[in-house]
Amino acid sequence: MQNYQDFLAEILIDEAAIQARVAELGRKISSEYAPGDLLLICILRGGVPFMVDLSASISIPHMIDFMAVSSYGVGRRESSRAARVTLDLQTDIQGMNVILVEDIVDSGHTISAVLQMLETRQPKTLKVCALLDKPERREAEVPIHYLGFTVPNKYVFGYGLDIDEYYRNLPFIGVADLDRYKPPA
Ligand code: 5GP
Repeated sequence: MQNYQDFLAEILIDEAAIQARVAELGRKISSEYAPGDLLLICILRGGVPFMVDLSASISIPHMIDFMAVSSYGVGRRESSRAARVTLDLQTDIQGMNVILVEDIVDSGHTISAVLQMLETRQPKTLKVCALLDKPERREAEVPIHYLGFTVPNKYVFGYGLDIDEYYRNLPFIGVADLDRYKPPA
């Protein structure tokens, strides 16, 4: 795998800006929910760093759970239209205040499919918290109740977002120059 410096076009959002915004979202969520019946659902794998930092910045007691849906696979950079649940929740969400935590809303198909599926389980409330929004690519209308940043129509990576499954660990959001990027053999 190439060093990311070889295909990094620019750092779009640096670590300090991410941490400040996540802390702000955590404070907002803490002020809008009653303690106890809040559940954060992280969509694997891109939402993990965001979920961890967001949960740490929420000051009221809450639970976390995880689910996985198929969307972008290795070697593909186009959004899939039909999201398939590949790992389901361990928690019964009926009557719970649920916030779906996602790395990025791009076409909107993933979140839209997950929201429809979760609605059938009758949560008390169901909201979306996305770190990034790429509105130029939207095909399915989705509500984003809590948003970190709006980003341009470019391929971004870092802080949970991968490039062929690598570099989710970077503390910043970078733009990839796909002309300089060589996929792993
Ligand atoms: P959507 O269904 O909204 O098109 O796709 C959402 C998923 O596509 C995200 O959860 C993310 O995994 C992936 N995705 C969309 N845009 C980007 C991007 O610019 N970079 C990366 N790494 N993943 C993206």
